[in-house]
Formats: sequence, C-alpha cells, structure tokens
Amino acid sequence: MRKEPARLRIWMVVVLLAACQTPTQQSPPVITPPTSGIETTAPKAPGRPLPPRPSDLAGPIEVAVRIEAADGQDQLILKNGSHTLTVRRLGEGLETGGRVHPRLTLEARGSGGEVSWNGKRYGGRFEVVPHPHDGLRLINLVDLETYVEGVVAGELALWSARPAELEAQAIAARTYALYTLAMRGAWTGTPASGYTSLSDSVADQAYCGLPANAVNDVQAEPSRRRMAEAVGTAVKQTRGSVLTRRGRLEDVRYHASCGGGTSDIESVFPGTGPGSVGIDCPCAEPGAAAQQRKWKHTFTSAQLGNLARTLGVGERIVSLRPIQEQPWRWSEVQVAGDTGQVQISFLRLRTLLGPSLLRSGRIEGTWPHPGEPIRPGGGWAVYGTGHGHGAGLCQTGTHLLAERDWSSVRILNHYFAGTTVENL
Ligand SMILES: [Zn+2]
Repeated sequence: MRKEPARLRIWMVVVLLAACQTPTQQSPPVITPPTSGIETTAPKAPGRPLPPRPSDLAGPIEVAVRIEAADGQDQLILKNGSHTLTVRRLGEGLETGGRVHPRLTLEARGSGGEVSWNGKRYGGRFEVVPHPHDGLRLINLVDLETYVEGVVAGELALWSARPAELEAQAIAARTYALYTLAMRGAWTGTPASGYTSLSDSVADQAYCGLPANAVNDVQAEPSRRRMAEAVGTAVKQTRGSVLTRRGRLEDVRYHASCGGGTSDIESVFPGTGPGSVGIDCPCAEPGAAAQQRKWKHTFTSAQLGNLARTLGVGERIVSLRPIQEQPWRWSEVQVAGDTGQVQISFLRLRTLLGPSLLRSGRIEGTWPHPGEPIRPGGGWAVYGTGHGHGAGLCQTGTHLLAERDWSSVRILNHYFAGTTVENL
C-alpha cells in the first residue's frame, strides 16, 4: 500500500475545555443563522415556528448526525488509516491515552479524508461527548452535501435505483434535514447536548456515512464504484436544491411504500399544519413490486398487555378500532382496555407496538374485526399493505415513475403538489 503523505494523514485534535464552560460555549457554530422575517401567508401550524426560506440558509452548512449504534457504549475505537483513538467514559469526562477531557474531536483532513468507526467510513469529523445518561455519544459533523449522499445511499436500493429517483431522494433528504434542524431550534438556541442533531436511523433519515458503506456487500468492484458514483452524480446535479411551498421549506416526509395512495400529512402527523395532501400512487398497480408488500402480524396477549399498561387502560386490551379520517388508512385509534379506554394517533400505536411489526396504517383487516372484543389470552391479527407512515413521497412509487422517465422535479411535484424546487 502506498504510504500517504504526512500532510494528508489524520489531523487529530484533542480539545480540552475548562470545566466551567457551559454547553452553549462548547458548541461550535454548526449552521448559519437565518435572518428573521414574518410572512403571514406561509404555511404554519399553531405553536410552531415558521420554516426557513432558502435564502435564510446561505453559506456552508454543517449537519450534526447522531450515530445511534454508538449511543451509550462504554468505549469507542475511532480510526483514520493507521491511527486509532480509543475513548472511554470516565465519570463526567472522556478518557483517552491516560488523560481526561470533556469532549474529543477526531478529524480527517486532505482530499478524500475520512474517519471510521465500527467498520464504516464517514466524511467530516467525529465528536465524542458524554451521553446524557451513561456511556458515550458519537456525533458525525459533516457538510450538508456529504450528508445528503449518505442518506441517498442509506435510503435506496442502489443496485436498481434510477438517476431521477436518486435526485428526487437527494432533494427530499436535503429539505428534510434543513426543515427538521430549523424546527428543532438549530438557529434559535443550543440544546443542553451542545448540538441540534439528526439521528442516523429512520427516526430521521437512514444515513450510512460515505456511500461506499452501502455497497460493501456487492462483490464486483466495478458495480460498487458505479453505484457510489451514481449517488455522487445525483447529489451534485441537485446541489443546494430544496423543496419549498410559498417560499419556505416544505415539511418533506417520505416512506417506503404507501400501498396505492398517500395520505394528507396533517392526518398522519397531527399538528404539522398544512402541507402535502394524499394522492394516487402507482405502487399498487398490477405487476408493481409493491404488490408483494402485503403483510400480516399477530400481536400476542402479552404484547397487548404491555400496550394496555403503557396506555393506562388496564392489564389487557379489550378492543381496537380506527376512527377514520383518511380513506384506507388508520389515523386515530380508539384503544379499549379492561379498566378504561383512550384515543391515540395511529403513529403512536405503531411506535408502541413496533414499526417493523405494525408496518403501516393501510390496514385491510383485523381479527377480531375492528371494535369487536379480543378474548382474554387471545391475540390480535392485523393484515395490511405498504410500509411506512404513508405521508409525502412514496419511494416505491418514485422508483416506478423514474422507470417511466419522469424527471425528479415532476416526481416531487406529484407527491408534493403546490411546491417548487429552489436553490439555497
Ligand atoms: Zn406508493
């Protein structure tokens, strides 16, 4: 292996901050603050700040990504080339090489510089901070466009993805990131953790680090290179492009498969305010791969008992029934237990029962039927189609439309009617 010139090798900085510094003082300027402005015609939900305008976000933008798999670990081994940094939690600080620090930064410099953890490669730099509860927290600070590459590669099946599909995902991912960071106060204050961050899991967007991580299991090197390059090309083609509604960032949501029709964002995510509305989607047309996305699952009486206790309606679930607000999709659910009943959003029910088990709100049937009694000790079988929350863009439908030579802008206008693609 060729030895890297010293100037391109890892540049490691150990930042020792005074113990009296507040988290705010420790925090680097992650994102350029937006200018203030009032626009009464912009979509706004009660109690929520206005989304930023693209012009508010000019300048380099760095995104802080929380690496969930590292959260709470006692020890992290971070690498760059032959350099290794082992970090352990020690009291309220971090120990490495026999010294204790409040936080640590590991940065790769030079063209193509990267840092790695757990066999995965990342651009930008790592910050290690104490987890608020126990162990460590790993944050990848990375420029916006590199972050978007990692999301496109993390979210899509690269072996079959079409250019327009990759581009639509890039614009959606970029918009989601900026909108979400803004709503979490990235520009208006610093949280106790020191960062306004995004999760690298589907809780926000699946982020895989450098696109090469997503194709590691592909055997042929030319195929690996082609797929990673396709991601890079799509992100470059859409560099700085975001989706806006009346001049402000759109609340972009997306999901794997809607099952044939998407739903209004307001019905899926209560309190979000006006935004994308439900439309027909080709993903359930005869022959589409999504036809196979039908699913069923039977929740056991033990799982239902946990649900009852969590919701405070007793020791067991007596019945579940939807309070329909959207055709085909459960949005509000009445959950009756042996000592009480409660009305909750389907989103919450799905979170409590497990998103991978209750895969979508597009439920075609249950046994016992909705509202009918579940016998003591019995389970609850659910039959559905689609995967994900069903609001905004359907990734399966996007793939099919890209195969029909739709452009990324046309696809986005289909799923987010009334929006415009603009540049930062
Ligand atoms: Zn669909």
